[in-house]
Amino acid sequence: MPNPLWFNPGLCLIGGKWVSPASQADIPLINPSDGSEICRIARGGATDIDAAVQAAQAALQGDWGRKTALERGRILTRLGQLVLERVDDLARIEAMDVGKPLTQARADAVALARYCEFYGGAADKVMGETIPYLEGYTVYTLREPHGVTGHIVPWNYPMQIIGRSVGAALAMGNACVLKPAEEACLTALAFAHLAQEAGLPAGALNVVPGMGAEAGAALSGHPGVDHISFTGSVATGALVQQAAGRNVVPVTLELGGKSPQLVFDDADLDAALPFLVNAGIQNAGQTCSASSRILVQRGIYEQVKTRMAAAYTDLTVGPAQEDLRVGPLISARQKEIVTGFLAKGSDLNIAGQGRIVDQAPEQGAYVRPTLFADVPPDHVLARDEIFGPVQVLIPFDTEEEAVHIANSTDYGLVASIWTRDGARQMRLAKRLRSGQVFINNYGAGGGVELPFGGVGKSGHGREKGFEALYGFSQLKTVAACHG
Ligand code: NAD
Repeated sequence: MPNPLWFNPGLCLIGGKWVSPASQADIPLINPSDGSEICRIARGGATDIDAAVQAAQAALQGDWGRKTALERGRILTRLGQLVLERVDDLARIEAMDVGKPLTQARADAVALARYCEFYGGAADKVMGETIPYLEGYTVYTLREPHGVTGHIVPWNYPMQIIGRSVGAALAMGNACVLKPAEEACLTALAFAHLAQEAGLPAGALNVVPGMGAEAGAALSGHPGVDHISFTGSVATGALVQQAAGRNVVPVTLELGGKSPQLVFDDADLDAALPFLVNAGIQNAGQTCSASSRILVQRGIYEQVKTRMAAAYTDLTVGPAQEDLRVGPLISARQKEIVTGFLAKGSDLNIAGQGRIVDQAPEQGAYVRPTLFADVPPDHVLARDEIFGPVQVLIPFDTEEEAVHIANSTDYGLVASIWTRDGARQMRLAKRLRSGQVFINNYGAGGGVELPFGGVGKSGHGREKGFEALYGFSQLKTVAACHG
């Protein structure tokens, strides 16, 4: 595939200028479809993070801090338009960097545009309240930005995660320091170029690529940062929260999941089937809200097993540019992790497996999508997040048992219920321990309008929708005594 980069990928954006990192060090960026080096990105560190935080502080005192909500909204809306104009470019870049099949990469670019449009339109619609109070008082609330917000982003959905966190933070008037993942950061850089083109003032968005333990740790522990949005693993999220805690700074954590779909005997199976499989293999299963557990009521268990197994047999895996259903994993390291999990399932029945196409280069990070059947709910494959195209089928008899199994992991990000019984739909929507519950669908198309986030080890705080605007602002109460 020809190199689609139209910018220098080796720089950081600090205070409106593209600069080399202070150390002059870099990191090779690997194309997971064939193991080749795409380019080298900046290996930013504490000095660059410090400069970025200072630039963000200056922006808040300057041009950016003086913008009205309407003006901020217009810039974001313009940015959304520019993203839409570059959707195919961005998709090609993401496909090369992350290994996403082109159609999936394109959907991410469209979602990024949609976040900019949504938060552009919402920027001037976040309001305070007046509060009835004692005689002689007028009391009202103001929604104000935190100040400098830090955004630490993983490699699996860079565009969508940047859209939902940076988009909302800018809409509320914060100035952002973004630390993309070291494995995939090209669309973060492309987005920053487009933000400049859209007229975002210098310092409102700063981007410092680098290693997690270096740039990431420096950002999460920086005393000049007023809020941190972190998306990534549970272990790193805990470190980020500790670092932020030392500065008494609020944190939003979007972590992992082991999300179940509950399929009851009365489900519309034709409607359910595509969702059951796709929710497990989209982005090669490297999705925080992937559905990795399929709980099926005994009466239709064999039928679901047979039909899902057939769908798995049809799955083809290959290079991103071939645009098959499944691409490579992000890296050789991720392949090792997923292969390790597959080995832990050697005591289980494999119901179906996809196929790696012949033209897939040997150096690519490919694994065969695998569906395990009859899996005990306490098996490691039914409890741990795998972050690969692997699903487990678990039979159940009663509604009570299904709820118990669904709620039995450390996570609680997404769940879905497939049943025609309206009373059961309402009951289970309440009983499932999960940040989102879907009834007779999974993911609802990923709507940017829908608040998203987890309970338990899936994290805390909500992003997306209007809820994110509340998260990226703080409330001030003003009480005037006028007699
Ligand atoms: P990760 O935690 O290793 O990395 C995420 C980000 O944190 C990267 O930018 C990385 O550089 C940075 N980082 C690493 N160490 C750091 C440190 N000590 N201090 C500060 N930052 C640090 O996670 P990953 O392997 O890149 O992503 C996979 C995980 O992310 C999975 O567990 C997945 O479920 C989760 N995830 C969750 C969501 C969600 O919205 N809930 C979305 C995507 C991914």
